[in-house]
Amino acid sequence: MLKLLKPMLLWATLTVAAFAPASAQAPYPTKFSPALADRADVRQALNFIDERFDRQVAEWIAVTEIPAQSTHEEKRAAYVKAELEKLGLPVEVDALGNVTARRRGTGGGPTVVFAAHMDTVHPMSTNVTVTRKPDETLHAPGIFDNSASVANMLQMARAMDAAKIQTRGDVVLLFTVQEELGLKGMYYWLDQHPKGVDMLIAVDGGLGPVNYGALGIYWSRMKFSGEGSHTNLSRDKPNPARAAAQCITDIYAVPLPDLNAPVSAIYNVGGMMTAGNVVNAIPQEVTFTVDLRTIDPELLGSLDHQIVAKCEAAAKAHRVTFEREYIQRSEAGGRPDQLADRRAHPIVQTAIDVLKHLGVSLPAGREAVPTGSTDANAGVVRGIPSISIGRARGGDQHTLQEWADIASARIGTKQLILLAVALTTDN
Ligand SMILES: [Zn+2]
Repeated sequence: MLKLLKPMLLWATLTVAAFAPASAQAPYPTKFSPALADRADVRQALNFIDERFDRQVAEWIAVTEIPAQSTHEEKRAAYVKAELEKLGLPVEVDALGNVTARRRGTGGGPTVVFAAHMDTVHPMSTNVTVTRKPDETLHAPGIFDNSASVANMLQMARAMDAAKIQTRGDVVLLFTVQEELGLKGMYYWLDQHPKGVDMLIAVDGGLGPVNYGALGIYWSRMKFSGEGSHTNLSRDKPNPARAAAQCITDIYAVPLPDLNAPVSAIYNVGGMMTAGNVVNAIPQEVTFTVDLRTIDPELLGSLDHQIVAKCEAAAKAHRVTFEREYIQRSEAGGRPDQLADRRAHPIVQTAIDVLKHLGVSLPAGREAVPTGSTDANAGVVRGIPSISIGRARGGDQHTLQEWADIASARIGTKQLILLAVALTTDN
């Protein structure tokens, strides 16, 4: 254990050293200026959001009330497609169900993709009726994650259209499917569009720090198998349950960097477990899951390797077979030092400046963070300058108590307009 711990601490020290100069460097480049927000057409688009906010909220509620569990997004997608077509935008629906509309620029500017996932984690039978409370919050499963973003992006498109905003680069409005199943829709879309994406912005999460990295997440199912046996004949027989128990104990002995280190990792074992279904027999199969997360690709690989090695050793010790199945694999974007050039890309500082302009207070020194677990991850690991930004304020995502603050969606939407103009226009 000590042998493993020592190089990791040393390595953590190196990471701190590598990271320190970055925070003391010259200001990061930005494409935002207050003058841009004051341009007549931009002002008109922002006013559009204020003047029609009641309608936007009504649409937000309507979108939420269209059930859209991952892989069952068709009805919500059909609604989105119809609304985009009303604006005269060319709309495409791909084989997986992603909806894409392209708002053409005048030419010569970068293409910026805005992405909102349409799917929710909630089963189709969930009651998704929205309740509006006196404190001006909305309550329903999926109200925050992510129908707020869907409504914000639709209204952004309408506002830019009404104000006749012309951008140099194209603005792509992408409504993805299966985000909650490991960003499947976004990975598929990027495979279909290997070129021509200069920047990617996922609209997901609460208003707050800008995420420009990717949290790596491996979900595994560990399976231990043996021949089983009736209890009466079970003495000294191989037992997959014992192997699994041993393995879980041993996994928790794998050392992790301190939680407050610039780069850390976390895992959770046994979120799901299965075994036999009778009392009087050794089970033939025992499984448990492992959820492993870190932003550092090397650490992710190394911890994954160590965890599997513990399982293999436990299986051998208890004379059963072992198999690992990946349920979901989302790669890590990198450590802060590896992502220093990403932090320096104007997409990050522009997003921060837009939020500050709109009066959103960001934690000092943590205006941008090199992590994230949204559709932007798919862009980060492909080397596309990508961020994820918030849509509103809210909480209790993925639960039946999910809620969102109504007024904050107005800021979330204005932010999209300012970003689209700033990033696609050379100024
Ligand atoms: Zn989400």
